[in-house]
Amino acid sequence: MNELERRATTEALFRDVNERIAESTERFEGNRTEFVCECSDAACMHRVPVSLSEYEEVRDEPTTFLVLPGHEQDDIERVVSDRGRFRIVEKVQAAMRRTVVRLDPRRRPPRPSES
Ligand SMILES: [Zn+2]
Repeated sequence: MNELERRATTEALFRDVNERIAESTERFEGNRTEFVCECSDAACMHRVPVSLSEYEEVRDEPTTFLVLPGHEQDDIERVVSDRGRFRIVEKVQAAMRRTVVRLDPRRRPPRPSES
């Protein structure tokens, strides 16, 4: 795995964590919640206060991620939206885009229903 793929995989792992947070927030009918920063620093444990609808905007594209202001990495991503509390960044390199699209949980086949 090369450096870009490693960083893309780190971000995809944080995205998986946030997908679980979004699911439990929906279940408890909450709205404002805290997601984890999806930057490529594997040691980053920062929380980002984001509403569920804001989070859904980030997840609209498989190549965009949620990061704290200042956590964007200029060499691998560009800021597409600055919301003050958080920023939405998009991967720029083709190799990283392929990796994060491949790892996007929303593109997997739908899970069987729980009923
Ligand atoms: Zn971070």
